[in-house]
Order: sequence, then C-alpha cells, then structure tokens
Amino acid sequence: MMKLLLDECRVKLYKEERSNRDIINEIVTAKQKEGDDDRFVVCDLGDVISKVQRWRKLMPRVKIFYAVKCNSSEPLLKVLADMGVSFDCASKNEIEAVLKLGISPTRIVYAHPYKPVSSLLHAKYKDVSLMTFDCSEELFKVKEFYPSARLLLRLLPEVEFQAEVQFNGKFGCPLSDVENVLRVAKQLNLNIVGVSFHVGSGVQDPKAYVPILHQSKKVFDIANSLGFVLNVLDIGGGFPGHQGSLKRFEAMSTVINKTLEEMFPPSIEIIAEPGRYIVASAFTVVAYIFGKRCHSNVTCMYGKDSNRENSMSSNHETSTTYFLNDSIFGSFVDCCLCRPGSEEYTPNILRHKSEDKLVESTISGFAPFDVLNKSVMLPDLNVGDWIYYENMGAYTMSMATSFNGISVPDIMYHCLENLWHDVYSDQRLYCTKRP
Ligand SMILES: *Cc1c(COP(=O)(O)O)cnc(C)c1O
Repeated sequence: MMKLLLDECRVKLYKEERSNRDIINEIVTAKQKEGDDDRFVVCDLGDVISKVQRWRKLMPRVKIFYAVKCNSSEPLLKVLADMGVSFDCASKNEIEAVLKLGISPTRIVYAHPYKPVSSLLHAKYKDVSLMTFDCSEELFKVKEFYPSARLLLRLLPEVEFQAEVQFNGKFGCPLSDVENVLRVAKQLNLNIVGVSFHVGSGVQDPKAYVPILHQSKKVFDIANSLGFVLNVLDIGGGFPGHQGSLKRFEAMSTVINKTLEEMFPPSIEIIAEPGRYIVASAFTVVAYIFGKRCHSNVTCMYGKDSNRENSMSSNHETSTTYFLNDSIFGSFVDCCLCRPGSEEYTPNILRHKSEDKLVESTISGFAPFDVLNKSVMLPDLNVGDWIYYENMGAYTMSMATSFNGISVPDIMYHCLENLWHDVYSDQRLYCTKRP
C-alpha cells in the first residue's frame, strides 16, 4: 500500500522544505517542454500530516473524523487513514471510498442527518453504526431500517457566529424541541449515544464553540433525565485551515479544551469533524493564461513574443482581462456558490520581474459570467503565463464540475521526507522519482 502511494499516486519526497513557487516552477518547466498547458493542482501531503500532528498536540482529547466531502482525493484519504484518523461521511459513496482504504467501520460517522433508505440499509450491512439525526421523523426511518444504529442528536446552534459559510439553520434540532424528539426515541427504544453540532465552516471567533457546548451539556442533562446514557460529543467542523490561521486555531483549541474540561467528564468521548482545517492550505491550484484582452486604445501586444516594455504605453490608464483555464464551475465553485465576494483567492504570478508596472486587471474563468478576480493590480502578463492560487484544498475539486468540458486537473503530490517518515517508517518502500 505504501509503495502504491508513492508510485501510482506519484508522491514526490523532498529532503528540504521548498516553496510552492519553486515546486510549481519545476513542474511548469517540464510541462512546457511537452507543450502541455493543462491546469494542475499541487498537494503537500506533509502539510496535511503536520495539521493532524498539531491538532493532536493542541486538542489531545478530541478525536478527528475528517469530513470527506471537503476533499476526497485518494492519497489524502490514504495518508489520513494511515495516521489513524477517522472519517465523517455524508453519503453511501463516501462510506464506500473510506471502507476501501481498509479501515474499520467503527472509524466512520455517517454525519448527514437525513439518509435515503438504501443508504441506511447499506450502512447497516457495512456495520457503520454511528450516525446523526435532527428530528423525530427520521427516527421512524431508523427504527424500521437500522434499529440498532448509534445515534447522535444534531443540535442547532442558538447563536450563529461569523463564519465563511453559514448554514442558516438548515440542519440541527432546536434546543426547545430536544425533549420531544428524545421522548420519541425513548418510545421507539432507539439507541441515542450522544450529541453533535456544526457551527458553520471557517469560523472567525475562537469563542464560537462556547454557547453550543453549553447547549450540548443541556441535552446531555435532558437525555439523562429520560434514562439515556450519552457518551459521545461530536463538536463538528468549522476550524480554519488556510496558511496563517494557526494562531486562531490555537486560540480556539484553548477555549474548547477549557470548556470541555468544565462540562464533560473524561468518560465522554469527544470527536470532531474538521474538513477545511485539514486540507485548505495543502492544495495549490495552478492555471494557465490562454487569452488576453486589453480595454483601452493603447497598443497591446499578444503572445509570448511580445516585448513587456512595449506592451503598454506608460501614460495611459488601461485595464486588461486575462482568461484562465479554470472556472467558478471548476476549482472556484465555492467562491460563487457559498462565499460570493470572497477576497480569499489571491492570484500569484509564477514568473514576473518585480519591477514590472502594475495594471488594473480582471482574471476571468472559462465560462460566461465567470470572474475569478475583479480589479486586481497585476503586472502586464501574456498568453502562456501561469498563475497559482494557494489555500485551495477545501471545497474546491470536491465541488468542481466539468461545465464547458474543462478537464479534471492532475494532482501532483509531494511531501517533506521526514514528515512522510513520521507516518511510514519503513524506508525500503520509498521511491523519490516522479514517473
Ligand atoms: C461539511 C461538514 C463538516 C466539515 O466542516 P469544515 O468547516 O470544513 O470543517 C463537518 N461536519 C459536517 C456535518 C459537515 O456537513
């Protein structure tokens, strides 16, 4: 399996830390030799490994169930599985993808509160017993098709904190309904084992988890009074994961640890379902400028051979649109669907001279009304230049479509050698050459 990871998934091991720019430059040089201008993605599995290590150091009590929907790249799932991470699956297919890694079904939480009957039956067949629900209607279904399931009642946060993606109350049982729902569960003789919640994706405030932890404690008390013994608390996802969010994550872990210690005795198993935290910073999207249009009267040269000095007149205000072979229906789908107006997608130019004059520019995707960056100041670029975007691991390729026939990008995996060795200690199985 390790050999498979390195060979078939082409994980390249590096002895020393290298910048994204450096690694991308090398790949682009090789592609240019072959006339290959397809966009691609670079994944640093070492970044994923250190995220898991950091989580375990900062919140040793909270067990990770990685949210597969955030990014389901196979080598990523494999490395997580080999680190002993468990998984949050939202569907039958995600459950299958994770079981294929050879892990025990006890390392899965089926965390979609509403399940098709066929999926419930599949979960039962595969012994995936831990699952969430948020209303009594769903309980009747569980009673009929999987009565021995271990159920987590998903709770609706009463206070919504600022998050990159807010859920607006779609899922979760309001605290005021909890007693009724639990009474139904009691009548049906179902197995309620705990509470879960999700505060929204990419929360900003370290204290965002405090009110919902208090609510959860109330549910434990209500359940207790009805004769249930709860022993699992699932604090969901929401943790930030882009480069530079470490301080915020640290602050969150401090608040969460303290609150957990005050309210939940060690006998309660605490789990979480981070998605964004694990993958956001590990993936970089690299795309190619295949078209350029200048909006002004100034002469504007096209193509690789144009001379940068002559490509715009220094006295004229101008603006330029670049066409990139990616799309809001591709890697950037999250920005149009879930986070309109997000400022987070920063274009990095792979190769340019620092003295280049900046021009107001728009970066346009492949499709109509497909704008990736509006009014950004960029040096004068040309067809054939490459642009990369960092922090593109969360809700990017997992949500991408093939609208307009754009192809699925190759993912190039790499890892710092000593981090790889933290997970895979048998040195004989390595190869360092990308085929
Ligand atoms: C999407 C999702 C997650 C992951 O959320 P992040 O904000 O990416 O950490 C966790 N749990 C559930 C139930 C989800 O739907």
